[in-house]
Amino acid sequence: MCEERFELPVDSGAVARYVGIATFMRAPRIADLARVDVGLVGVPFDLGLAYRPGARHGPVQVREASRLIRRINPTTGVFPFELCQVADVGDIATHPLDLLASIDLIRDFFRTLREHDVRPVAIGGDHSITLPILRGLFDGTPLGVVQFDAHADTLDEFYGTKINHATPFRRATEEGLIDPQRVIQIGLRGTQWGRDDIAFSLHAGMRCITYDEYEAIGRAAVIEEIRRVVGDGPTYLTFDVDGLDPIYAPGTAVPEPGGLSMRDAQVILRSLTGLNIVGGDVVEVSPPLDPSGLTAVNAANLMFEILCLVAVARGQ
Ligand code: MN
Ligand code: MN
Repeated sequence: MCEERFELPVDSGAVARYVGIATFMRAPRIADLARVDVGLVGVPFDLGLAYRPGARHGPVQVREASRLIRRINPTTGVFPFELCQVADVGDIATHPLDLLASIDLIRDFFRTLREHDVRPVAIGGDHSITLPILRGLFDGTPLGVVQFDAHADTLDEFYGTKINHATPFRRATEEGLIDPQRVIQIGLRGTQWGRDDIAFSLHAGMRCITYDEYEAIGRAAVIEEIRRVVGDGPTYLTFDVDGLDPIYAPGTAVPEPGGLSMRDAQVILRSLTGLNIVGGDVVEVSPPLDPSGLTAVNAANLMFEILCLVAVARGQ
């Protein structure tokens, strides 16, 4: 708990925010993974989506937007940068044209993080990145998952392909990377392809909370439900920004009206402090569709909330 042990972010009270090369939350850029406990990592990749591309630019834009982030969580008091060594570990050099090659590159990078006991907080990228992230983190124990999303992402195929942003949690279930009994999906809504869009999630035993149910039972009950479903076991947290109402995240491939507020997201995430969150991601931020930059600002704040959860769990 000694503050001097860890290299802290640039002090924005001393060095103006617009000065210097951007890193996530102005954390130090550390390449030597042996020195890192929690790695902030960019996954610039969007070959997994079919419509309104642009999420490959997410890491660059969110890194810039994250200059606004300060140090201490205003609700929980968590100061992640003094709990462990937090560092920007850079972006994965994905292939710009080869989906399957990129999926392997992403898996390999996260496997390397795991081998160095670095807990990741990633920014995508479209939601297909979560599959290779889970592959890389897998150590033999299936993870629980807390997923914020307008979509379940458990289709079997999308345009005849198996790996894309509509299928990651089906593939992860089939591969035994996650325990569907410890998966909760929050915010599901939007017009449907068919009446069985989320059938796989339900049959596998995932807990699916549509936005209709969210409104009916209320935020406090949803928080209880998350804690009940994932319990004390190792859990991954994935936040698709289309889970937010498009008023908070217009810059995304598949916006769905009628969703979570940013305040809902903050309250829920802060209430999960103490759970065994081994890593997380924020995905589907598309800067070309985000002219105001609001989506990137909110994504940077979501990354900070997830960082707080991961740092507390890392220190336990
Ligand atoms: Mn998704
Ligand atoms: Mn989605």
